[in-house]
Amino acid sequence: MSAGPVIALHGGAGVNPARNYAEVEAHLHDLARRMKARLIAGLGALDAVCEAVFDMEQSGLYVAGRGSGPNREGAHEFDASLMCGATGRAGAVAAIQNVLSPVSAARAVLEETPHVLLAGAGATQFARAAGLAPLPQDAGWFRLAVGVAPEDLLEPQAHGTVGAVARDANGRLAAATSTGGTFGKLAGRVGDTPIPGIGTWADRQVAISCTGVGEAFILAGGAGDVAAHMRYGGATLETAAHALLARVAALGGDGGLIAIDSNGHVAMPFNSKGMKRAVAGLGRATQVAIT
Ligand code: ASP
Repeated sequence: MSAGPVIALHGGAGVNPARNYAEVEAHLHDLARRMKARLIAGLGALDAVCEAVFDMEQSGLYVAGRGSGPNREGAHEFDASLMCGATGRAGAVAAIQNVLSPVSAARAVLEETPHVLLAGAGATQFARAAGLAPLPQDAGWFRLAVGVAPEDLLEPQAHGTVGAVARDANGRLAAATSTGGTFGKLAGRVGDTPIPGIGTWADRQVAISCTGVGEAFILAGGAGDVAAHMRYGGATLETAAHALLARVAALGGDGGLIAIDSNGHVAMPFNSKGMKRAVAGLGRATQVAIT
């Protein structure tokens, strides 16, 4: 266990073990290593999770940002949220369109509005007014995320997400999550990712980013339930995280989460076939795994 800076990343629980994730593993390793160095150099937890998620969105390797699939109408709608444990403040966007970086839009909601969550056309308008970059005009900008085959785009429950949780050198915690959601989703469908307390949570005790079947995470109580189990029930991070996944499974869903507690302890459980994940920190070897 490390009480110094730590970062954990996930690239989603939508994993097909028969596919090759070598490019993802290399990217996660490099990103975790870079973010660890930035945290050791003094980067704050909220900046770190925002920067890491931005990198994953732009890579096109995951089902978020550039690697997102279209909904049934052929439009790309994104969900993202982030939360700062030290201030208890969160920002989020749901079903937002035409924005280069959904997590940057979530951050702008946190920093520039009195609100927590903006959705749909209003979120898109807000991003424009806030001066955030739109999607590139080039229709070829989107790419299939690693491990996603074209036929998966027709499968309503295929999905992916990216997320990061961090503990900075001052012991502050933060979490961020961003997704293109499930493939073949209905227009306007919103999953767990942009809901603070469900897909993302950070307080002074724990920071959590979830991935998996969003509907099940919403109904199971999500990340906030893990935090409440620890806060009121005195549960350990591991126990609380596994209890959430058991409820998700009982609802017919699967997925996983990454979490860091205030002592720098990291948990990355999942009950899906895999979860692309990495952890790096002071005095800790950088680790990457998929299954
Ligand atoms: N939780 C995301 C959603 O339901 C998908 C995922 O994490 O793979 O939109």
